[in-house]
Amino acid sequence: MTERVFNFSPGPAMLPEAVLREAQRDLLALPSYGMSILEVSHRGKAFTEILAATEANLRKLLDVPAGYQVLFLQGGSRLQFSMVPMNLLGDLAGPQRTADYVLTGSWGKYAVAEAKREGTVNIAYDATATNYDRLPQPGEVKLNPAAAYVHYTSNETIQGVQFPDDPQFGPAPLVCDASSDFLWRPIDISRYGLLYACAQKNAGPAGVTVVIVRDELLTRSPDRLPGMLNYRNFATEKSLYNTPPVFGIYIVKLVTDWLLGTIGGLAKMQELNRAKAGLLYDVLDRSNGFYRGHAQPASRSMMNVTFRLPSDELQEKFLAGAKALKLVELKGHRSVGGIRASIYNAMPREGVETLARFMEEFAKRS
Ligand SMILES: *Cc1c(COP(=O)(O)O)cnc(C)c1O
Repeated sequence: MTERVFNFSPGPAMLPEAVLREAQRDLLALPSYGMSILEVSHRGKAFTEILAATEANLRKLLDVPAGYQVLFLQGGSRLQFSMVPMNLLGDLAGPQRTADYVLTGSWGKYAVAEAKREGTVNIAYDATATNYDRLPQPGEVKLNPAAAYVHYTSNETIQGVQFPDDPQFGPAPLVCDASSDFLWRPIDISRYGLLYACAQKNAGPAGVTVVIVRDELLTRSPDRLPGMLNYRNFATEKSLYNTPPVFGIYIVKLVTDWLLGTIGGLAKMQELNRAKAGLLYDVLDRSNGFYRGHAQPASRSMMNVTFRLPSDELQEKFLAGAKALKLVELKGHRSVGGIRASIYNAMPREGVETLARFMEEFAKRS
């Protein structure tokens, strides 16, 4: 039996072991279908049921109100950086063809780069001056009243900066890149015009992206768009405009089954996540400056815990010591440096406890 490690990768990330076991058990043949999920037609009975169940699970977990589509797309969140402006700027022209972007980290910046190809971007807030270590204070977000939508990133995966709740940035439809904290807590979908999340951080494997969009925004999508880039086609065809990522959606079903069943819903998941993150931030705060967090305390992410050690030498020792305890993929992103512990929904508390203990011991003996 191959032994599993605690994988602190920012994504693709750990999946619940129960999900992997179920997928493994049924890989040869889905019970009562006699065919693998890798072989079934996307229009056949087995997958029709899986797709419907996955959507129903997401609607239940997030309490999605009427008037919203839940779509399964491909191309990752990077494609959403383009699809959002392509669709939501619609046929607007001139000064109306503009959107607000709130920048709290690197992913927001990448989203801006793509939006600029489609229209005018107003940077409503940019934390670059402090190296993306904090959320905006009240009054710091400078909105453009003409904006067609306002885009923000609920969790900046690289810097470890996260909004603790659903922000309100003004009257324009709110668009959220929720890639790295999707399903980490209950959210109020009615506050959003559109929310997207690639699955490979917190909801499943790479290859499937969930888009939740208010119906009325779909009327903005211009007919001139390539069919594969038009949300309306995926809404009309119920995510079967072309062959969807069948296996990825199946895993999202198993993950959402796990959230509803074993975990008991998103409020419970949030409680567990907060407790896990608290273990690491407590060590940080009690280390007398040995570990220095990147994010300011009020902006800290419950998903990606970013911090530095006193020297590069100690950091290398830290990574080697952690690896010996089967704690892997802890090296921070090259743009921030230091350590990043990604502790998504599927990271067991035991993994975080082991890391917290190791951090304490390491600080003591260094
Ligand atoms: C990972 C990530 C992305 C990019 O996702 P891809 O599926 O690789 O395109 C975008 N935004 C955030 C916040 C992410 O964490």
